[in-house]
Amino acid sequence: MNRVLIIGAGAAGSVVAQKCALDRKTFQHITLASRRLESCQRVAALCQSEIDIAELDADKVADTVALINKVRPDLVINMALPYQDLPVMDACLEAGVHYMDTANYEPRDKAEFSYKWQWPYHERFREKGLTAILGCGFDPGVTNIFCAYAQQNLFDTIEYIDIVDCNAGDHGKAFATNFNPEINLREVTQNGKYWKEGHWITIPPLSIKTMIDYPEVGPRASYLLYHEEEESLVRNIPGLKQIRFWMTFGEAYIKHLEVLTNVGMTRIDPVMYKGHPVIPMEFLKELLPVPSSLAEDYTGKTSIGCIVRGTKDGRQNIKMLYNVCDHAETFREVSAQAVSYTTGVPPVSGAKMLFTGAWNGPGVFNVEQFPARPFLEDVAKRGLPWHVIDVDTADQEPLFAVET
Ligand code: NDP
Repeated sequence: MNRVLIIGAGAAGSVVAQKCALDRKTFQHITLASRRLESCQRVAALCQSEIDIAELDADKVADTVALINKVRPDLVINMALPYQDLPVMDACLEAGVHYMDTANYEPRDKAEFSYKWQWPYHERFREKGLTAILGCGFDPGVTNIFCAYAQQNLFDTIEYIDIVDCNAGDHGKAFATNFNPEINLREVTQNGKYWKEGHWITIPPLSIKTMIDYPEVGPRASYLLYHEEEESLVRNIPGLKQIRFWMTFGEAYIKHLEVLTNVGMTRIDPVMYKGHPVIPMEFLKELLPVPSSLAEDYTGKTSIGCIVRGTKDGRQNIKMLYNVCDHAETFREVSAQAVSYTTGVPPVSGAKMLFTGAWNGPGVFNVEQFPARPFLEDVAKRGLPWHVIDVDTADQEPLFAVET
């Protein structure tokens, strides 16, 4: 009997819980825990079969250990915020349970996206015979697994990877973020970074832009950002010469972001206001729509994938692996927009891989270190079909021409 504890009943956590509740053959017992019980109650009401719920502040290791001891899950899926990654990993180690998340740990006082805090847990998980699976969302997550699939099945050597992330949806709001606003804005306002010929190259935020032609969406302006999957892919795809990450932003988003940044609203250091320290970014988050509230009227699609260049049988080759997801369809299925959906379905497939033994091995792993095919077969059946196409240099000319 497989038992799972999901922590975090937000936009993406809601999808994880609902999708697990649709597959009682794999998930016989499901508990959803979150900081506020009402968040869990709201999600439980959406689930098509019964789940248990619990209130939990996952910053408190002892409380998480106590809940794990009560629920006795085989796996904890951490869908709370990156700040909770280390306390939840500590609790899993203490209580002897496997761990999974979708975003790397971040300290609250510095927007630094790095695995340097979680990778050192490897020995402790290994010694206890436990598995920790890091970054099992869409990006990171499926994008890493696309790269692993390309490495395992399509190429002899991989030299260049461009991860391309387009949200061509319209939520009708003047300014909103598609996942937790604080985490999203920290990601977008940090310096951009990419990896080339063995070195990380840092650029000012959003300073490199190009047009990328996205399947089922068409050409969109895309900005070079740093994204955490680059750090593990550089380690795990041998022979790589360059990896970059691109994301689309509309003009209205960029304009708002520019103004908010210029006036200091995206700062993450405390500012004294009427005798109280206030962190502008945390205050801003309170003003912005919560990501789950965007779902109802969202139209359009996400189109996210990897453009991989390398060689096969001595020939240069370019392939694109991608998924397209429709906001209105995901709303009809699980009352969620496509960004939450693409984040929430992969951990369910990842959990199945762990339970069936398709993914195993004690220690801390990024998803590209496991066999790609069984995961991709499963995730397609659960609602994220994916495709591989041949790409001609002319198809993505502006992208390949960008000087980096
Ligand atoms: P939301 O803000 O919608 O949800 C976060 C949830 O975490 C909230 O519901 C909140 O609970 C809960 N939470 C916060 N602090 C605690 C705590 N101390 N203890 C317990 N629960 C807590 O965010 P999203 O659902 O959009 O994002 C969730 C995660 O997914 C984030 O880590 C994000 O970075 C990641 N993500 C990953 C992506 C990928 O593709 N890999 C893409 C998008 C997001 P409550 O409601 O009870 O207060």
